[in-house]
Formats: sequence, structure tokens, C-alpha cells
Amino acid sequence: MKYTISQISEILELKTPAFLLHTISVLLTDSRSVTYPSESLFFALRTRNNDGHRYIKELIEKGVRNFIVDNVPVNVVGTPNVNFLVVKDVKKALHTIARHHRMQYGIPVIGITGSRGKTTLKEWLYQLLQPDYRIVRSPRSFNSQIGVPLSLWEMNRDSEIGIFEAGISLSGEMKELQAMIQPTLGILTNIGGEHAEGFPSKRDKCREKIRLFKECECVIYCSDDPLIREVMEEEEIAARHLDWSVTDPDATVKVTINKRSDGSTGIKCHINGADHEASINFNDPASIENAVGAIIALIYLGVAPEKIAARMERLTPVGTRLNVIEGVNDCMLIYDSYTGDYHSLSPALDFMQRRATADRTSTVILSDVMHETMTSENMYSNIAHLLKQKGVTRIIGIGEEISRHAPYFNQNSKFYRSTEEFLSNTTPNDFSHELILIKGSDDFGFHRLSEVLEARQHETVLEVNLDAVVHNFNNFRSRIKPTTGIVAMVKASGYGAGSYELAKTLQSQGAAYLAVAVADEGVDLRKAGITMPIMVLNPRVVNYTTLFDCRLEPEIYSFEILEEFIREGRRHGIHDYPVHIKLDTGMHRLGFLEADMPRLKKVLQSQDVLTPKSVFSHLAAADSPEMDDYTMEQFEIFARCSESLQRGFSHHILRHILNSTGITRFPEHQYDMVRLGICLYGIPTMPDHSQGDLRPVSTLRTSVISIKEWPAGTTIGYSRKGLLHRRSRIATLPIGYADGLNRHLGYGNAAVWINGRRCPTVGSICMDVCMVDVTDTPCKVGDTVEVFGHNISVIELADILGTIPYEILTSVASRVKRVYYRE
Ligand SMILES: *Cc1c(COP(=O)(O)O)cnc(C)c1O
Repeated sequence: MKYTISQISEILELKTPAFLLHTISVLLTDSRSVTYPSESLFFALRTRNNDGHRYIKELIEKGVRNFIVDNVPVNVVGTPNVNFLVVKDVKKALHTIARHHRMQYGIPVIGITGSRGKTTLKEWLYQLLQPDYRIVRSPRSFNSQIGVPLSLWEMNRDSEIGIFEAGISLSGEMKELQAMIQPTLGILTNIGGEHAEGFPSKRDKCREKIRLFKECECVIYCSDDPLIREVMEEEEIAARHLDWSVTDPDATVKVTINKRSDGSTGIKCHINGADHEASINFNDPASIENAVGAIIALIYLGVAPEKIAARMERLTPVGTRLNVIEGVNDCMLIYDSYTGDYHSLSPALDFMQRRATADRTSTVILSDVMHETMTSENMYSNIAHLLKQKGVTRIIGIGEEISRHAPYFNQNSKFYRSTEEFLSNTTPNDFSHELILIKGSDDFGFHRLSEVLEARQHETVLEVNLDAVVHNFNNFRSRIKPTTGIVAMVKASGYGAGSYELAKTLQSQGAAYLAVAVADEGVDLRKAGITMPIMVLNPRVVNYTTLFDCRLEPEIYSFEILEEFIREGRRHGIHDYPVHIKLDTGMHRLGFLEADMPRLKKVLQSQDVLTPKSVFSHLAAADSPEMDDYTMEQFEIFARCSESLQRGFSHHILRHILNSTGITRFPEHQYDMVRLGICLYGIPTMPDHSQGDLRPVSTLRTSVISIKEWPAGTTIGYSRKGLLHRRSRIATLPIGYADGLNRHLGYGNAAVWINGRRCPTVGSICMDVCMVDVTDTPCKVGDTVEVFGHNISVIELADILGTIPYEILTSVASRVKRVYYRE
């Protein structure tokens, strides 16, 4: 679907633009994602951290000719052949265009909202309705104020039904989404037990979500949650209600659930005097809830009962993750487990492009792609164009269909008919220094590519959830003043999680500084392309040339180190190099004392090599209310010393003293920056939930490699320490103290999590393996095991060992593969 620029300006009620002949086929909100510059309309959005107007000049150079702005930046005024449509509110303009576009199509549209499960339900409905309809839907979880309009824009003349998700984080947002999506059928997944951040209460949040259904013909929801039932009544939703319940015999749809021992679940929906039965191959509560919603939607849409039953049985899990894993020969692998359709390719390529560095070329391994409304010729030629635009130099196509379209792709491409054919013709040495995006439909089994592509084959992995990092970062950002900067502590290799991916994430989230422990960590970040300011807490034993070249800003904590830096700086011809002055206000570890201040000022003033960028101190007892007197004294000393230092200089010297706990307990001492550490990794330091909803970032996972059954009296492991008191099933796990699993966690002192149950350790933990008791836990070889994460908390392990969570996190050995993912 294309619009002319004059149609667009009519929709926005603006006067006719200067260059009338431009056509628009792409709405662009992210300047990094340009693929069809001449037909793109760029929206210069202003967000908390960024301003789209900054990128206009660069986009014009790339060939973009049409912009929606709130004012025309001076550096581009009057550029020939470029249209600036000036509006009051750029985001509103995007919404207006999306709403107009949506209104051109009188097709059924399903709108999904709720706290959890939206993406899964959307993908399931897609799987279920695909045989009957040509479907347009949100790619991935594009459900925000920006994602929804971009998704709606994909509607075209061939679309027969739409499926869109709507997610909100603030009051008032759903009204906008409702006006754009205009769903005819609404489905509410659930209102989770989580926080109501951004809303006065959970009830308000629920009320806001339900606004999506204002003009629906029909709504589907579970009335077993009293809050949902009440709010539905209060809000007087005029639609037909298909409320369902497993307990209430008066519900419109009475549901019976039958969980079977083989992991499948029977679902019976009784509606209008008829029974509809189906079975799914899942038994977790979220899947069952989604399945019920899907069945009712299908009944409402008039799909025949026997078709519903047959299709429900074939539902497959929905992966939304993008996993980043170290590959062979210095490659990086990005696995995209999302469905293999055309519209999800472009966001995956954007994700890849943002990870590109000078020392790796870009490769894509792609299976046959589902085409929904395009001919395969059109689609593969579009894909070839897209890959070229994103700088992909090597393409490996796997599948009959993509092979047939080989001529569209560049010289450097290779094609195989199946995953087997690829595997039997490939060795790890065919890849080196490449960033490889691996994207395949379910039936291609691309997880098998790990055999040739992955660097470490150890089953034990530390999974790092980058979305959780963003969530925790934003949680803390919302607690501090908008003018306070955040120093993100990524020392000790990101508290064990690995610093590069974290740094990349924090850089794009707008952290003010990164802090590392030693210069080498900073050097690695620079090599990997991190450009934001980095401070080094312990700058001893360094190569000064590298330090200056890498623009790493040292902490200065003594006169010796101060004088050494001035000397070295002079030798390197350095001027005004930013450093951070550490004050000792009570920790008694490193730093200048109050008595040192006059001399410190004099030394700093008598040279021009270094310039104090910030002055800071660290609290010794932030988490001990009984020592708050001591902490108050630290604050007073800090105030006196830092003011005295400031008086010696004309530029503003930044001040910071709070760590995670300090931010929560003493927000009045934020000064210019705060230093966020452990809470960024999702570990609360306050027992009273005052830090809100933090999500654990790291999960240490392994798998069962063997199970044996033994009679009572058998002993397990070294020195016969694990004596069995009953007939037991004992599982062996490939993780030991060399992976960082402390030996004191053996002998039943700790438990791991398998299939929803805790399984205690048995006997001593060995170097590379350990044993756990699975007598009461149904499990088999290959099942996953959580050592710590959501179910077994790091805090619990720290308590058992008489240590602190910091030590648990930083003890995971480097041989454990780190896997990063975004949801
Ligand atoms: C590690 C560290 C922090 C962060 O502390 P958390 O308790 O992890 O938030 C802050 N400041 C300094 C100087 C540190 O070394």
C-alpha cells in the first residue's frame, strides 16, 4: 500500500507540501533501520533519551526525503526536494496516520491485551487461523505506542483478518491504542499479580487495559479473577461477553480442564448447550489459559469444531527470544527462535546490525520463509534487497523454496535443500570472524546448527536476560530525579554476567557512565565498540598509552597515584584529562581524607594534565539502619569535602555517593549521579520490597545427563558422603565446583529446580559434576535444571554459604557459556 505525500498531509490536515510527487510505503521511526530511503516517511520522535530531529541530516544524506517534525532543524532548512511536514506532536501524527490506514479495511480485527501471554496467544491464533484466512499481525511483541502503528501499517488489500497486541505502561495510553486498532473482537489474557507501576493501583491498570474493548462486538476473558469480573461490570463494556470460568456454573462458557500424566491437557468448553473438546500438548497454567481464549475465539469466528480440535493438538511453543552466543573462530551467533515469517526478519536484522563491529562481517543463515500475502518471487527479491541494505555479505539459504530463488541473492550465497545437507557439507572452519544471524522456521530444526557453529559445548550455561537489565534500569531511573545520571556498575565482568552485552544495552538505555574495576575490562569494552564514558575504579598496573588511547577515566584515590598520573600524562602530552576523585568518608579503604583536601586542591590546581570530572565516596553501611548515624556523618563529610573542592575550580564538578541500597534509602543525597550495581542485576538489597519489581538477570542452568535408581543404604560420591535412607532416584548434573558451584552447597544443603520441584543435592559436589535426589520429581535425561534464577534465588544460596549475593554472581566460572537474550 502506498500513499502520496499530499494524501499524508491531507490526513494530518496540513497544507500541501512543496514536493508533491513523493510516495510513501514505509513508516520509519528508528533512523538506524533505513531500507527503502526514497519511500520512507521518518517520524522525528522525542523520547526521554533521544530526539529523532538529531538524525534528520544523516537521513537526508542516505536518501530519505520526507519527514514529520515538530520544527525544522536549522542545519537542514530549505534542503531541495525534501518535505518537512510540521506538526505539534509527532507521535500523535503517527497515530493519526495509522488510524486512517486501519479505517480503510472493514475486516475482523482481534485485539489482545493483558499482562502476560499476549504474544503467545497472538502467535497461536495465527497458527490456528492461518488455514482459513490471510492474516496481518504484529511482528514479535510490537505492542507499544510506536509498535502498534507500525504493525497496523502492514494491513493491505489482501488482508482478511488482523491480530494485534496492545501493551501499555502508563495511564491514558490505551485510549490511543484503541482508537488505532479498533478491534472487533477483544481478548484479555490476564492481569498478572505483578506491580501496577505507572498506575495508582492494580485496579486502575486493569480498568485502563479494558478500554481496548470499548467498541468491540465481543470480548473474551476469564471471570475467575474477581478483579477482572468487577472491572468488566463497572466499565459497562457493551460488547457480547464470552466470559469463561472453571468454577462458576453461570459463566457464559463453562470450562473443564483435565491435566494428563503425559504432559498434555484436555480442555472442554461448554457454550450455548454444546460441548467443544480439544487437547493441547502443554500443561502449564499460562498455556492452558491461552488455549481456552483461543478456542473460544475460534468458536466465535465460526471455525468448525473438528477443525478446532485438530488444530489445537498441533500448536507449537512460541519462542520470542533472540539469543546471542559465542561461536567458533571468533564468530558471534544470534539465534532467532521466533516464527520464520517475512515481517519478523527485519527486526532481527536490525538487532544484528546493532551488534556489528569492524572486525566481523555479517552472515545470515535463513530457511524457507513463510509468505502470507506476497508471491514468493516478490518476497524473496524483497528479502535479497533487505539483506543487501543491512550490510549482509554472506547468505546461506536452507530449503527447497529459497534455493529455487537463488538468483536473487549475491555471488557469495550458498544454498542447501535441507538442514542435513548443510550439516554434512560444512565444518566449523568454514566460519571465521562473522556475526551470524540464524533464522529458521520450526520444521528446519536449526538448533542442530549448534553442532558446527558454537564455541563451547558444555551443557551448563549462564543465561542473561537483557530485557530484565533494561527493566531494572528503568525501575531505578523512575525513582530518581530526571536530572540525576546513572553510573552503571559493570565491574567484575558485569557482576559475572559478562560486560559487553550489558554495556551495549546500558549504552542504548542512556546510562551516564559505565564503571569497571580494572583497565583491561575497559579496554575490552572499547575494542567491542562501546563509545560512552567509562570510569575505572582501580587503575593500578596499567599501560598508560592504552588507558589514554581508550579514553578510560581513572579513579584517583591517593597522592601517589595522583602524582603518577600527572607524570605519565605529561609524558604523553595530555591536557585536561577527566579523572574521578575518591574521598574516604568512612569506608577506610581507599580515598582522600578530609585533612588531605587543602593539599589535594593545591596539587590539582598547579597542573593542567588532569581535570576533576567528578568527586565521589562510598557508603560503608548503607543497608544497616542501626548504623544510620554513621552514614549521616559520611554524608556530612562528603558535603564539606566536595564543596571545598568545588570552590577551587570554575567548572562544575559532578558529585555522587549512593549505591543501590543508598538510592533506595537516602534519595535526598542523589547529587548529580548515582552508582547502580547489584539491583541492576535484579537482586534486591532490601527485604521489604521497597525496591519494587526487580527481575533476576542471570539464570545458571544445566541439564540432567544421567539418572539411576538405588536401594536404601547405597552411598553416592566421594568418601561415601551421600548415604541414601530410602530407595532413591539420583540424577547426575554436569556442573561442579570448577563451574563455580561451591562445595558447601553439597550434602543436601542446597537444592536445584527441576520440572517445578526442588531437588536436594546428594553427597559431595565434584569438580565437574554433582548429584541430586529426584525421587519425588518426574524427570528424564535431557531435562533442564535451574541452579539459580527465578526459582532458586541467589539470595538463598548466599544465605546457605554465609556470604552475600555478589559473591555467588561473580563466582560462576568463565568456562560456563554466557547466553544473552531479549524477549
Ligand atoms: C560496587 C560499587 C558500587 C555498587 O554497589 P551496589 O551495592 O552493587 O549497588 C557503587 N560504588 C562503588 C565505588 C562500588 O565499588
